Amino acid sequence: MSDLDKDALVVVAGAGGFIGGHLVTELRRLGHRRIRAVDIKPIDQWFQQFADVDSRQSDLRNLDDCVRVVKDARFVYNLACDMGGMGFIETHKAACMISVLINTHMLMAARNAGVERFFFSSSACVYAADKQTRSDVAPLIESDAYPAMPEDGYGWEKLFSERMCRHFHEDFGLETRVARYHNVYGPNGTYEGGREKAPAAMCRKVIAAELDGANEIEVWGDGEQTRSFMYIDDCLYGTRALMASDVREPINIGSDELVTINQLLDIVEDIAGKKRPRRYNLDAPKGVRGRCSENTMIRQRLGWAPSIRLRDGMEKTYRWIYDQMRQPASVRNSYV
Ligand code: NAD
Repeated sequence: MSDLDKDALVVVAGAGGFIGGHLVTELRRLGHRRIRAVDIKPIDQWFQQFADVDSRQSDLRNLDDCVRVVKDARFVYNLACDMGGMGFIETHKAACMISVLINTHMLMAARNAGVERFFFSSSACVYAADKQTRSDVAPLIESDAYPAMPEDGYGWEKLFSERMCRHFHEDFGLETRVARYHNVYGPNGTYEGGREKAPAAMCRKVIAAELDGANEIEVWGDGEQTRSFMYIDDCLYGTRALMASDVREPINIGSDELVTINQLLDIVEDIAGKKRPRRYNLDAPKGVRGRCSENTMIRQRLGWAPSIRLRDGMEKTYRWIYDQMRQPASVRNSYV
């Protein structure tokens, strides 16, 4: 992979969040000397904080803020988004759609600033609902996003923003790269408060049961819905590889290791060393019945695909959440 110029100014929007925080860490590790990290959250609430990085609190729904943030940048990673897991996106559809302001204004500012390359984090939630009605789902290839019927709210916003990236290239020559991430998990992310996703939520529930002595784990739905989950290290490698590539079409960056939610919980309980009875909450948000990444295109175009086993990634995630939950609430690094 030919990486980006280490002296170029790189902007990471959403750097106070899970993936953005890891991306800044990765860019620093790779020797990037000029990084500007931006998030709407106060800097002391970022999952990862960086003394040697130009860190800014800014609301990127505003065009003026976007203009200030991308000034002199050659590369922009836009990961800023008002989002969360199923429990959040099913109940905050308007809030999710307002992120279209972030993407619109970041694209406009990047075009005007002469940014060389612009990355946008889209999602598997763009895929059409009728392709995801069964647990034994056929993995989703990139063309399955059309005819469009994505996840209400969040998915429509992502699909619209994907198309905006495409047209900013066609009409203005801005080089855009669009990743469709499938369920990313790992340490330094949300695990409580309502925005967490299934892997972190499962870890939290199992750890809470251990710490509180509870004898039951709540599962949303019947637990037989299927997903694939990608560990953060694979996400970072794929993101860098895509940014360095000539791939302008939206591309899946996701694992193809399909599991049911019950199997995900089996893994967490195996790591914890204790099984408990399960209570299935059929009224809770469940999302689509089945979803898995199809990785032919990424193998062909990037010569690589995510491969970290779910058991291995969950082990690290569980350990981090366990350490967090053992700390007093006042010093926990979690943003709600
Ligand atoms: P995250 O919520 O941890 O990070 C997003 C960050 O964006 C947050 O820190 C938030 O404060 C910030 N933000 C929100 N509104 C903002 C604004 N107006 N101005 C500036 N910053 C703002 O989420 P994440 O998991 O790190 O996701 C990063 C990106 O990847 C998002 O675009 C998300 O939609 C996409 N994505 C993530 C997953 C996943 O499983 N984590 C899957 C598919 C797509």
